[in-house]
Amino acid sequence: MSRRTKIYEGKAKILYEGPEPGTLIQYFKDDATAFNAQKKGTISGKGVINNRISEHVFTRLAHIGIPTHFIRRLNMREQLVRQVDIIPLEVVVRNVAAGSLSKRLGIEEGEPLPHTLIEYYYKDDALGDPLIAEEHIACFNWASQDEMQDISSMAIRINDFMCGMFAAIDIRLIDFKLEFGRIYDGDYSRVILADEISPDGCRLWDMHTGEKLDKDRFRRDLGGEEEAYREVARRLGLLNGEDNGPGEVFDMSHHRSRLRGAPPKK
Ligand code: C5P
Repeated sequence: MSRRTKIYEGKAKILYEGPEPGTLIQYFKDDATAFNAQKKGTISGKGVINNRISEHVFTRLAHIGIPTHFIRRLNMREQLVRQVDIIPLEVVVRNVAAGSLSKRLGIEEGEPLPHTLIEYYYKDDALGDPLIAEEHIACFNWASQDEMQDISSMAIRINDFMCGMFAAIDIRLIDFKLEFGRIYDGDYSRVILADEISPDGCRLWDMHTGEKLDKDRFRRDLGGEEEAYREVARRLGLLNGEDNGPGEVFDMSHHRSRLRGAPPKK
């Protein structure tokens, strides 16, 4: 047996050389980090769930004409993807104020935004992924004007689609992060959606209770992160042999009592 070549190891994923030129294998880990890796932990089973959720979302986005790096899921934790030249931007789409936006501008979390906001962050761990303006992107040539046009229009279409997809399972899409990459065809290059879409990089709130079903459970020590990720997968109909759909009310109250110091209820 030969050892495969690791191309890159990130906080939640590993990229290995793929079986054919121009392909990679994307492996989903259970590791979780927050606040630029100052907080580290694991969310048991996260990699398996995120692999399935991301496969689902990328497949459905392809159906509406969004070009993506996803080729196919290989097994529980791995998917085959196209190799891209990653554009060093984190593209954040926001529908409702939360997280760093609330903190930066003093807007209460949960306040709907007058219109969808797209923000760009420069992807650089050493700098803590700083917020940047489109002017910086042009000035430092991180992406061309045409590429930025493609990125922003794809981000809006992805947001429209995902808002509907999650609303159908009683989930409010608060915000999420996207990454894009370039693929080359002779003298031409084109921008496609890369990375993953999962509760690691989205804020997902239950439509009725407001319960957080995403990585904020880990970031904010709320507990119940495994259950929350599974609940998203369950509602999307991705857990075989289990009840799927919005159906019952998702109850995380035992995690709240644990936060107040009481032992978790079984
Ligand atoms: O922290 P902030 O409010 O800027 O995050 C906005 C959205 O982008 C959240 O859904 C968060 O999960 C996601 N994000 C991410 N990776 C980062 C920064 C933010 O997935 N490095």
